[in-house]
Amino acid sequence: MNEAPINVLDLDLPALTEQVKAWGQPAFRAKQLYRQLWVNQRESFDDMSDLPAPFRELLKETAAISTLRNLLVRRGDGGLTRKAVFALPGNETVEAVLMVYPGRATVCVSSQAGCPMGCTFCATAKLGFRQDLSPGDIAQQVLWAQRELAKVPNDLDSGAERHRVRGPGDVPERLTNVVYMGMGEPFNNYQNWRRSVDLLHDPAGFNFGARNFTVSTVGLVPGIVKLMDDPLQINLAISLHSADDAIRSDMMPVNRRYPIADLLDAVRAYTAKTHRRVSFEYVLIAGKNDDLHEARKLADMLLEKGKFPMHVNLIPLNPVVDSGMTRSSRDRVNEFRDYLENLGVPATVRIQRGKDIDAACGQLAGDLAKELAAAEG
Ligand code: SAH
Repeated sequence: MNEAPINVLDLDLPALTEQVKAWGQPAFRAKQLYRQLWVNQRESFDDMSDLPAPFRELLKETAAISTLRNLLVRRGDGGLTRKAVFALPGNETVEAVLMVYPGRATVCVSSQAGCPMGCTFCATAKLGFRQDLSPGDIAQQVLWAQRELAKVPNDLDSGAERHRVRGPGDVPERLTNVVYMGMGEPFNNYQNWRRSVDLLHDPAGFNFGARNFTVSTVGLVPGIVKLMDDPLQINLAISLHSADDAIRSDMMPVNRRYPIADLLDAVRAYTAKTHRRVSFEYVLIAGKNDDLHEARKLADMLLEKGKFPMHVNLIPLNPVVDSGMTRSSRDRVNEFRDYLENLGVPATVRIQRGKDIDAACGQLAGDLAKELAAAEG
């Protein structure tokens, strides 16, 4: 029986060097291979012309450049938003979304197939937990986005102007942000998530700046505590969604384990230690958490123990089929924001992207059958 191929994207340079030596090759070949993967971003061993042909053959037999297979890419927003669906070897699927703005490009990546956290308003939660992604599988979504970004300038249509991208010159050459806000809970797969950051950050490789990563969590306190001592300055976003424990527990089962007071203590300790600004995500659901009393409660709670560097991101709900939940009205969203701002809490409304291709926040459901039908029809 053949063994599973070695995923070379999972290996940092020291580990790759060990592997290359185990293959009976001189150590410097590891550097060449590593550069081909992370600097030249080659997708196939055949394209690595500086490696000797016999070594390329050996790689083709025993190794793989990640294990994710790109099944399809859907484009929306005039070509500025692109969602990729990938299959894992067991045929689970995960999704990544590239979003291009004037002078800026963000990729939203998945850290798990499915998700064990069970948030009631989220499409991924409906899948339950399927499997953790490896570091290379997570990082590969970023490499996909970087390659896809290169196609964007030649592939825009008039819809792009609505998003203030007026021509190819407004599209950046390099990704500017990586956000761990796709499928899964990154802190539930902490080690692999964190290794993906190291792989992408390595100055000898992809060289992506630490400050341009944002990790988003449902509020797993041990993860926040761990990140506090991390030498890299990775941005932290917390999915808060309510200042009321009863409402929050109803929306997010994790709140029963880590209630709001414990979560905020961890966040305050994090900002005290790192001096970094934390973002709070707040999905606005009509009649659930969008009363202005809730805004007041939120502001009081965030400010009660003294100001710390933070920001609230309001996200009008992207309704999930059969959930019975709807988004707050546009007026209410703006009122909620103004109310927070007037109380001294910086707040913005997150711009919606990818609604037409089910690529918006919380809509990643890996619904391959639907995707393929749409692609073929
Ligand atoms: N598990 C992590 C990251 C994935 S979700 C987390 O929860 O933070 C990324 C963001 O999308 C989270 O803030 C999440 O609460 C939000 N989200 C989930 N479902 C949504 C929906 N239906 N509409 C809008 N935002 C949603």
